[in-house]
Amino acid sequence: MVKDSVDLARRAFNTGLSKVLQYRVQHLRALLQLITERQADIIAALQLDLHKSEFDTSLFELIGLENEIKLALRELSDWMRPEPVRKNLLTLMDDVYIKSEPLGVVLIIGAWNYPWALTLGPLIGAIAAGNAAIVKPSELSKNSASLLKELLPQYLDKEMYQVVTGGIPETQELLKQRFDHIFYTGSSTVGKLVMEAAAQHLTPVTLELGGKSPCYIDQNCDIAVACRRITWGKFANCGQTCIAPDYILCHPSIQNSVIEEIRQTLLEFYKEDPKTSPDYGRIINQNHFDRVLALMEGCSVAVGGDSDKSQCYIAPTVLKDVSPHARIMQEEIFGPVLPIVAVSDISEAIQFINEREKPLALYVFSSDKKVIKRMLNQTTSGGVVVNDVIMHYTVNSLPFGGVGKSGMGRYHGKHSFDQLSHKRACLVKSLAMESLNKPRYPPLTASRLRQARFFLLSRCCSCKHLLCIWAITASVLALGLLIALLVNLFKVDHQFT
Ligand code: NAD
Repeated sequence: MVKDSVDLARRAFNTGLSKVLQYRVQHLRALLQLITERQADIIAALQLDLHKSEFDTSLFELIGLENEIKLALRELSDWMRPEPVRKNLLTLMDDVYIKSEPLGVVLIIGAWNYPWALTLGPLIGAIAAGNAAIVKPSELSKNSASLLKELLPQYLDKEMYQVVTGGIPETQELLKQRFDHIFYTGSSTVGKLVMEAAAQHLTPVTLELGGKSPCYIDQNCDIAVACRRITWGKFANCGQTCIAPDYILCHPSIQNSVIEEIRQTLLEFYKEDPKTSPDYGRIINQNHFDRVLALMEGCSVAVGGDSDKSQCYIAPTVLKDVSPHARIMQEEIFGPVLPIVAVSDISEAIQFINEREKPLALYVFSSDKKVIKRMLNQTTSGGVVVNDVIMHYTVNSLPFGGVGKSGMGRYHGKHSFDQLSHKRACLVKSLAMESLNKPRYPPLTASRLRQARFFLLSRCCSCKHLLCIWAITASVLALGLLIALLVNLFKVDHQFT
C-alpha cells in the first residue's frame, strides 16, 4: 500500500511534468486556493486537535504559508534560471553555470504542533523545486491529518503529491522505501531513526528538530517589554512550539520583577482563568500531559501550576529558582511551563548555554550593545533573535533550521527551493579551439605543465569580467584600426604633396 503510493509518485515524477514552470505555478496556486477556500475546515480541525483559536491558526499557520506561496509565485522563474559562475582561462569561452534540478520524490514527515505549516511549508518547497512528494502528517493531530488527506487530492495532482496517514508502523514502512530526499520535522529521537533509515539508500535528509531554546534577560533592559514578548512566544499553542523560549536565564535580582511582569501579561492575555480563554490552547494528548507535569516535580511554582487531565489543560506556569540539575532542565519542555534559572552575569549565561546542546533558537533581551555582541559572538544556535522571540520564523529570507542536535538543513523562501533542488554543475564546451587544450594532453612536458598551471590557477572570469575583457579587446582593436587609418591617410596626404 505504502509502496504503491511511492511507486505511483515516482512514475508521475518520471513523466517530467513537475519540472515544467507552468505546472509548478499551477500547483502552487492550487495550494493557495486550498488554504483560502478551506480555511474554515482547517480552523475547525485545529480547534479539535489543539484547541487552537481561529486567530492563532491564521497567525501561526496560514499567513506564513500564504506568504511562502506568494513569494515562490513571484520569484520562481528567477530561482529556476541557470546561475552563471566564475570561470578559469581554460573555460573562458564555455558556458559554465549551476542548474537547479528537482531531486525526485521527497518524503515529508510532519509534527503535530503546527500540522499545516509543518507539512505544507516543505511541500511548497518541494513543488517549487519540481519534485513529487509524499506527505506524512502526524497521527497525533488526527483531525488535521484526515482533513489534509481529504483535501490535498481535491486541489493537487493526485499521483504527484500524495498523503499517507497512519502512525509509527506506516512511517516505518515509508522509511523502508527509497526516496530522493526526506524532510523530517519532529523530535531528535525519531530524527535519528529517520537518518538511519535514509542511510540505507544514501538518501539526503533535512531534520527540523527541537531542543531547549534559552532566553537570557539582561539586567539592563526594559523587563516589562521583554516579558510581554516572552509570554506571548512561550504560551502560544500551549507552549508546544519548537522555537518557544524553553527557559529563562537571568540575574537573581531581577527574577521577581520577571515573574511579576509575566503574571501581569498572562492576566492581560488570558484573563483570570486561562482555561476559559478562547486564546489558550491544550496539550495534544494525555501522554504529553503526564510528561509535562512529571517534568515540574520538585520545582517551586511562582505562577500557575493548575491542571486538568480530562481537558489536557495545564495553566501557564512559571517556576522560580530552578536548579540546572532539575529534571525540567534535562529535556525540551514542549509545554506551558517556564523555568527561571539564576546566573550571575552574561559570562555565566554564555557558559551555561555552551555547556549544553546547540539550540534551535536563542533569545537575548538587553539594551546593552556589548552584551548583545558577546551573546552573538560567543554562542551558536539555529537562529538567534535579539529583544524578541520567534519572529525570525516570519522572515522568509532567513534560513530556518537547527545546528548540531537541533537539526540539519534549512528552509523557508528560496532556502526551501535550494534545499530540495540538486545544484547541478554544468560546463558546456564547443568542439572548436582544440589548441587551447594542448597543455593538458600527453606527452606532458615541463613547459606544458607551466602553461596548464597558469590557465588552471587563473580565476578571472565571471560574466562581468568577460564583458570587460571583450570591451578592452574591442577598444584596443578599434584604437589599432584608427591608428592604421590615420597612418594611411597621412601616407596618402604625403603622396599628394
Ligand atoms: P510526532 O510524535 O508527531 O512525530 C513526528 C513524526 O514522526 C510523525 O509523523 C510520526 O508519525 C513520526 N514518528 C513518531 N515516532 C516514530 C518512530 N518510532 N518511527 C518512525 N516515525 C515515527 O512529533 P514529536 O516528535 O512529538 O514532535 C515534537 C518535536 O518536534 C519537538 O522536539 C519539537 O521541538 C520538534 N519540532 C521541531 C520543529 C522545527 O521546525 N524544527 C517544528 C515542530 C516541532
